[in-house]
Amino acid sequence: MEVRFWGTRGSIPTPGSHTVRFGGNTSCVEVRTAEGHIFIFDCGTGARPLGEALMAPPVAPVSASILFSHTHWDHIQGFPFFAPAFEPRNTIAVYGPEGGRRSLHDTLARQMELSYFPVELSQLPATLSYTDLGEGAHTIGGARIVAQYLNHPAVTLGYRVEADGAAVVYACDHEPFGGALWRTDAAPGPLESILHEGDRRHAHFLADADLVIHDAQYTPEEYRWRKSWGHSTFEYVVELACTAGVKRLALTHHDPSHDDAVVAEIERRARAVAERRRSPIEVFCAFEGCRARVEPRGVTPAGGPETAPPPAATVAPGARVLIVDDDPVMRRLTTRALQNDGYVLTEATNGREALEVMRRETPDLVILDFVMPELDGLDVLRALRADPATVSLPVLMLTSQSDEGSTRAGFDAGATDYLTKPFSSPQLSARVRACLTRAPKP
Ligand SMILES: [Zn+2]
Ligand SMILES: [Zn+2]
Repeated sequence: MEVRFWGTRGSIPTPGSHTVRFGGNTSCVEVRTAEGHIFIFDCGTGARPLGEALMAPPVAPVSASILFSHTHWDHIQGFPFFAPAFEPRNTIAVYGPEGGRRSLHDTLARQMELSYFPVELSQLPATLSYTDLGEGAHTIGGARIVAQYLNHPAVTLGYRVEADGAAVVYACDHEPFGGALWRTDAAPGPLESILHEGDRRHAHFLADADLVIHDAQYTPEEYRWRKSWGHSTFEYVVELACTAGVKRLALTHHDPSHDDAVVAEIERRARAVAERRRSPIEVFCAFEGCRARVEPRGVTPAGGPETAPPPAATVAPGARVLIVDDDPVMRRLTTRALQNDGYVLTEATNGREALEVMRRETPDLVILDFVMPELDGLDVLRALRADPATVSLPVLMLTSQSDEGSTRAGFDAGATDYLTKPFSSPQLSARVRACLTRAPKP
């Protein structure tokens, strides 16, 4: 596979003399397979120069697959300026995560309404198709593409491309699931030492990849003030990639406030993390125009989510969600976060009431507070896991108990996911979606 970076900036384009080295265009990465299929990951403003390159003479008809991680501005703004879409001989298949509040097609069409742009989506002359993707393994453009939800304040997919006997992962935008990566009672490094199940799942997703392209917007110092904004620190990404046995790591989605000197310093510090881990991984900060050749290994890497399921069925509208919290403010915030997602929401004000409600009717998902009088969240969770009817019912613990002991107790008792304050409404909405999608279907 041939990889080329056309946009490496996060959030908003940053042209100017201070960003000439690493680039100012927003997220866009091109991956070509040996067969000649073109995958495009995100269409930030980097999609404009990519489109021009694809249309440079001698022009042959373009056939490409665009895979959107999500539809935040910095990942879609270049799409209306993607020249191949204006040529009738071209065929472009567009993919993005299922589960946003409207379809991928409608979201893209909205940014091209005449108030914002002079050409509507329906007027584009190329042959365009739109597919909303779920988590799981797909076959696209002759490659196996594994899609997995990331942790971001929007439903967001990471993509693992397996082709030509090699694997490339694209994971933007994403932030750590856990407050800390490692358990304090275990040596950092092995997969088993990872504290939060979400981070362990993410490490499996990266496993043995030849190249991982990953969001690393913040320094650890900045991240302290940017929790729940949906982005990683270079330290988290390098640690995780070392654990996952990744060969090469490209850090990208550079913060708009970071000039070339700051990004170069991040590269230096990121390499120091890999050295500390005594890992042979090659780490670099991606820059506009950067090319990476991924050599075939003869066999497709054995790592990765080997049990990646076929695409999950979409969540049926009207899924029933039970919110259990003794704090009325938290119940109101949770309800508000989910009220436009099409669920039927019910509330219970304590653990005992929750179990009574569930005896009458089992919901599709429970959002469970940790600390409650009488019967706390762990007691409720243990009761649910002891009952065959609710043994695999998705339970998301939502709590201010962000310490390691509580996190481990939650997962040990059988929590599906564990989300701590501070969190944002769209982040909660995306995590609920992921839990529901992964739930075993009857
Ligand atoms: Zn972004
Ligand atoms: Zn985003």
